[in-house]
Amino acid sequence: MTVTDLVSYEDALASYDPVMGLEVHVELGTKTKMFCGCATTLGAEPNSQTCPTCLGLPGSLPVVNATGVESAVRIGLALNCEIAEWCRFARKNYFYPDMPKNFQTSQYDEPIAFDGYLDVQLADGEVFRVGIERAHMEEDTGKSTHIGGATGRIHGARHSLLDYNRAGIPLIEIVTKPIVGAGDRAPEVARAYVAELRELIRALGVSEARMEMGQLRCDVNVSLRPHGQEAFGTRSETKNVNSLRSVERAVRFEIQRHAAVLGDGGTIVQETRHFHEDNGTTTSGRVKEEAEDYRYFPEPDLVPIAPEREWVERLRAELPETPLARRNRLRDEWGVSAHEMQSVLNAGAVEPIVATIEAGADAAAARKWWLGELARRANEQGVELASLPITPAQVARVATLVAAGELNDKLGRQVIDGVLAGEGDPDVIVEQRGLRIVKDEGALGAAVDEAIAANPAVADKVRGGKTAAAGALVGAVMKATRGQADAARARELILERLGVTE
Ligand code: ADP
Ligand code: MG
Ligand code: ZN
Repeated sequence: MTVTDLVSYEDALASYDPVMGLEVHVELGTKTKMFCGCATTLGAEPNSQTCPTCLGLPGSLPVVNATGVESAVRIGLALNCEIAEWCRFARKNYFYPDMPKNFQTSQYDEPIAFDGYLDVQLADGEVFRVGIERAHMEEDTGKSTHIGGATGRIHGARHSLLDYNRAGIPLIEIVTKPIVGAGDRAPEVARAYVAELRELIRALGVSEARMEMGQLRCDVNVSLRPHGQEAFGTRSETKNVNSLRSVERAVRFEIQRHAAVLGDGGTIVQETRHFHEDNGTTTSGRVKEEAEDYRYFPEPDLVPIAPEREWVERLRAELPETPLARRNRLRDEWGVSAHEMQSVLNAGAVEPIVATIEAGADAAAARKWWLGELARRANEQGVELASLPITPAQVARVATLVAAGELNDKLGRQVIDGVLAGEGDPDVIVEQRGLRIVKDEGALGAAVDEAIAANPAVADKVRGGKTAAAGALVGAVMKATRGQADAARARELILERLGVTE
């Protein structure tokens, strides 16, 4: 199907009600793998972090990683789930070269956490509750690299390389209940859910959850049903959608595609699909296996997991404040609207601003620098705000110098320039670039006299009572002092010299 065959988003929503299901895999940041002691360091030499267990060699036996279980319980609790009294691992059988055991150790009908929810906040401030069906433990697969094909896919490749360093790294799969009632905001809800989940995972400290590194991956299920119909339609499952923007686009595209197929009297096949970052479309993958194809059965080599209630309660009591609650608290403390808070969040500026305030800046100034000048720089360079080469303490120092009248905004921006260029701390740059505001009354007075002498017509207007015209003279003074004059003081002196009072 080409993009032009799609039904417009508005038309699709006029006829159908979308239902979604989001499956998120989080790679835990444990030091060792889920069922063996191999290291999990990224970027190691291929196959240097493997052992008989994660290579699935005969006779090897797995042992469960306690931190992996603890992280799973903490994630489950943070998602308001029940924690199983007793549960087991299960073998999910399939043959695939990057799965050397020929089964994945996962959980099936006995997940460690189930029946919870996550509240997510939409752009307009409204909170939408997403039901969580389950969060279960499993392990990651190895990685194949196909050589010789045009697209990096297996088709047309001459040979493939296999790296088992990732095989056995702990994963938590978090599956939502069918998400209904989002209507035309379905794409936004999907994105907000994944964003909120990512924040939550980071707040728990169980993973860095960087989507671009594959530490958080999302499969997007979408189906449509005619308005008023109770039963769900057939879903498609778009795999490995690896950015927030892509999640939103994939949902939107699938809604339009399903509507086109259904509107033509066609049927949706239950299949997995691939998302294409370049044009925002999806294409057919493979026809979806049914659960029975995997011949799940309880893992005989691992003991059941029975989390003690006292331990679970202790973990519950130690949970950090949820990101949503924290954002609401910060919003009140900073005195900003839900909408403004949303832009702070979208800009990735929450942590930098918090740290800048802790380093002594006031909230408004911290927001202004990060969302203004620094966001602009990050945007120009196509990097995250937090990875600009400037620390919150340095931003706080600039804000403090501005608040003290030592710098004005323009000079402050030049100091920021210097810090980003690697010239050192703000005070050093102020000194070396000679950026301090000219407060010396003598020098300022001389600049004022020159400005008046050079602009006699303007000066006359001001003398005649048009004090607004003084702005042009202030401008001349600022120009003459390369922006370093104290503008307010310059204006006072101009009015004084011209004998007018306001
Ligand atoms: P699978 O392993 O086949 O992908 P899961 O149960 O793990 O199945 O995940 C399916 C996801 O899709 C869940 O989030 C579920 O709530 C959701 N879902 C199930 N049926 C539908 C449907 N008809 N339309 C949209 N989403 C659905
Ligand atoms: Mg799935
Ligand atoms: Zn191993």
